[in-house]
Amino acid sequence: MKIAFIGLGNMGAPMALNLAQAGHQVTGFDTAARSDGLTLADSAAAAASDADVVITMLPNGQILRTVADQVIPAMKPGAVLCDCSTVDVDSARAVAQQAQAAGLAALDAPVSGGIGGAQAGTLTFMVGGPDDAFATVQPLFDIMGQKAVHCGDAGAGQAAKICNNMILGVTMIATCEAFALADKLGLDRQKMFDVVSTSSGYSWSMNAYCPAPGVGPKSPADNDYKPGFAAELMLKDLNLSQAAASSAGADTPMGALAQQLYHQFVEHEDGRGRDFSAMLPRFAGKNR
Ligand code: NAD
Repeated sequence: MKIAFIGLGNMGAPMALNLAQAGHQVTGFDTAARSDGLTLADSAAAAASDADVVITMLPNGQILRTVADQVIPAMKPGAVLCDCSTVDVDSARAVAQQAQAAGLAALDAPVSGGIGGAQAGTLTFMVGGPDDAFATVQPLFDIMGQKAVHCGDAGAGQAAKICNNMILGVTMIATCEAFALADKLGLDRQKMFDVVSTSSGYSWSMNAYCPAPGVGPKSPADNDYKPGFAAELMLKDLNLSQAAASSAGADTPMGALAQQLYHQFVEHEDGRGRDFSAMLPRFAGKNR
């Protein structure tokens, strides 16, 4: 397949390289980043003009809309636009409509799995958009990831992503504040892990990504809280879930509180550039 890959940052570059290494003809474009091993075009439109599938991996919905304005008029009939960025549901739906009006199909296909998953080709894709476009891109999802779930119509992939990450933000905070409480009650962190990881308080945050250094499987806590998944990316996703909740009229008080705490941590404390699990030293260092 001929593939255009727009946005060759931390995630996009390894995803594009995996496609090229699997034998696809990949043409990349990025306004700043360069990637060894890929053929590069001079513009997003030039990369897209000959492609069967145009993949985007960009910072946010505003930039996605700008890039969509550039690539959609350049794409050939029958081509599919597949956005893998994490963006707001409204931008995903607007881009899908724009593509449809131009006679093209679009998918929103955000990912879970982080930079490690992008490099290893083990991402999970959550996908919104038409069946035939999903079928066209599925072989590429299979190269870049281990699983692709077709969640529904346009925007359903982004909806799944922000709901998942709202749960993640809330459970990470709950896990961190429980460890900080355990400390103050004199309960050993390893004992706390041994109990909770096999009791009803277990979660991915506790069992797979334990925020306490030296406890549970290796995680960013064991690497001085270097990301991993940066606190500011968690804040971005919580901002998206709260924006979606307010436009859909959903009541998400725990999501709102998690957003507030990550905002405080990133903007007014030392959270920027640290893993999102560094909420544990934050709570442990505070007294009521
Ligand atoms: P990044 O900032 O490393 O990469 C984004 C790239 O887009 C940059 O190289 C930038 O130069 C490029 N870009 C910006 N404007 C452009 C334009 N107009 N045309 C072409 N290229 C342009 O970010 P990332 O970590 O690769 O994340 C990309 C997306 O994936 C984000 O939406 C993020 O939320 C999502 N995501 C990231 C992770 C992660 O762990 N990093 C995990 C899951 C999802």
